[in-house]
Formats: sequence, structure tokens, C-alpha cells
Amino acid sequence: MDGPKRTTSLYGRRTPLARPAAQIEALDAVDLAAGPTGTGSFHRDLVASGWERGLTPAPLEIVQINIGKLCNMTCRHCHVDSGPDRTEENMDRAAVDACLAAIDHIQAHPDGGSLHTVDLTGGAPELNPHFEYLVDECVARGLHVIDRCNLTILLVRRYRHLPQWLAERGVEVACSLPHYRKLGTDAQRGDGTYDKSIRALAALNEAGYGQGDPDKVLTLVTNPVGSFLAGSQASLEAEWKAALQRYHSVSFDRLFALNNMPMSRYLEWLLEKGQLDAYMDRLLGAFNPAAIDGLMCRNTISVGWDGKIYDCDFNQQLEMDAAVPFGHVADFDLDAWQARTVRTERHCYGCTAGAGSSCGGATA
Ligand code: SF4
Ligand code: SF4
Repeated sequence: MDGPKRTTSLYGRRTPLARPAAQIEALDAVDLAAGPTGTGSFHRDLVASGWERGLTPAPLEIVQINIGKLCNMTCRHCHVDSGPDRTEENMDRAAVDACLAAIDHIQAHPDGGSLHTVDLTGGAPELNPHFEYLVDECVARGLHVIDRCNLTILLVRRYRHLPQWLAERGVEVACSLPHYRKLGTDAQRGDGTYDKSIRALAALNEAGYGQGDPDKVLTLVTNPVGSFLAGSQASLEAEWKAALQRYHSVSFDRLFALNNMPMSRYLEWLLEKGQLDAYMDRLLGAFNPAAIDGLMCRNTISVGWDGKIYDCDFNQQLEMDAAVPFGHVADFDLDAWQARTVRTERHCYGCTAGAGSSCGGATA
């Protein structure tokens, strides 16, 4: 298997690529001639696709909160560079309350009625000590909550109650699983991950998830194992459902097929394998203008563990501050947010390739 292998965080290894600026420089150094303008400029390709002002916001629908980089795993493709060593970067109670105050501000705003979801991500978001408090407060505000779960955390003794606890609150669980076969999953996430993931899926099924109940939605999220693009979400979903049922008697509701973003540990793997140029060529060659409208940066606020605000989780990891006159969620202002233009760089080609790729799956 020539796919990513288990690793440690870039941060822990103090590699030059741990710096977001070094990642942007590595992408800028690639000689790119594909795409609508042949310039390798994402902004110019947007303009050529009819987005003269660049990426402008759609009505705000989702607040995505990355509540920490701490994770019980160290997957090879991780765009957050998470791992067990990332203990410092965890959202504190003051920042959690600032997120809730921002949500209150949005819900009280005349244009805030489109907000319907709070999407909790990490790291393993469950490891944050304020996770359950934050879920309860968002549910109390009438919002749909998504827990982006790595599955294996549900087998850790302290978190085994979560399938039932989340089910009682109607929380959607969006679980990452690279492949329905063991080989691809363990290659990307570490040996033993697949078996644990299947046991966690069975526990979620036991709690009522993955049976078509809209209050107990179980979503699986897959990224390709290797340097190719995500396949067709609809056909993969049918194949995955049949395979997981046949081999393990576990079920889920829907599948999101995402492209790997050329950043962080996946970027490191591309560089190590000498695959970066080919992968970027592949992304640009598959540039799809129809995927732009549904990009998550248009309808989402992304909040980092320290309360800083970004256009999306990817810009967050690259420390590209949003183009607004405030930097922290405590000062969030919906009018200014909706008036901004999204900041883009070459990593954005990962979102517009093929059927498009966002936290909500394909966009086209
Ligand atoms: S489980 Fe998710 S957050 Fe944790 S290391 Fe893997 S990809 Fe990163
Ligand atoms: S990386 Fe972020 S800003 Fe760029 S296109 Fe994707 S969602 Fe939008």
C-alpha cells in the first residue's frame, strides 16, 4: 500500500513545514499551467469563472468551532496537525462562552435567521473539557449540532457514554473513516484503527444512529488514501453501505467524499513522495466552477481554539485571518462578516476540484 502512514505531528517534530507560511510557500513554488486562466492563481480563476469580486458570502448558516488540536490519533493526512502532543491548544471556557455570545448576537440579528447548525471539530472535540457544556448550550438555542468524531475516541472508557448521550440530544455524528476496508483505513490512520472504528460504529447503531432517524444522523466522511481525488459521493455511498452491512452488519445514513487538502501533514506526504506537482495539476485540471457556489467559506464562520475567526477550517490552519475589522469571536459582528471577501490561496483548489469538497461533502 503506497498510501500515507501513521506519523507524529509536524509541530512535535519541529519541522519547517509546521509553519503555515512554509506551507503556502511550498504551494506557491509549484509551476502550474492548468485551470481556467493557466496562471495558477486561484483568485484569477475565480474571476474568470464569473466571481469578479472573489468569494463573497452567502447567508450565514453554520458556526464551525474547532475546539482544540488535541487528538488521541495522529493520522497521516491530518490537515490540522493534531495529535496527543497538542495539549496546549484547547478552547477554554471564556472562549466557549464568547462563541455562545456570538451565536446569541447572530440569532438576534435581522439577517441571522439562516443560522441552523453548530459544527464542532478538532482534534477530537470530545477531549475538550467543555464539550458537553457547549453541546447542551447549542441544543438549548434550537441549533442542529454536529460532532466531528474520529470514532476511536468512543472506545476510550471515559467517553463510552457518548453515543447514548449524543443520541438523547439529537446531535449528528460525522465520523471520519478513510475506507470500508481495513488496509486503506489503517494505512492512513494507524494500525488497529479500522477494528476500533467498526466497534464504535456498532455502538452508535446500538444508540439508534444510522437507521434513517433524522434526530440520530450518522454521517461517514472519507478522504482518498493516496494522491487521487475523491470519487463520486453518490456511487461510493451505495458501495459503502452495502459493504459495511455485508461484512460487519453496521449501517450509516450518508457519506461525504472529500478531497485531501494540500496542506499540513498531507502536504508533507506529497512532498516526500514527489507527488505535489502532480497532485496540484490534478486539482487544477479538475477545477469545477459549479462547485464554487456551495463552498463552505461562503456560509460558515470558522472559530479557532483561541477564539480567533477565519473563513474556513483550512484558512484557520494556515493562520489566514479573515478580512474583517475584528479578530476574535468575542467581537463578532454579523454586518462586517457578511460584507467581507473570503481570503483565498492555492490550497483552495482542493475545494473546487471535481464535485467540490467542503465539510458538508460534495458541493456540485
Ligand atoms: S482523527 Fe482527525 S483530528 Fe485526529 S489526527 Fe486524525 S485526522 Fe487529525
Ligand atoms: S480552502 Fe476555505 S477559503 Fe478556500 S475555497 Fe476552500 S473553504 Fe473556501
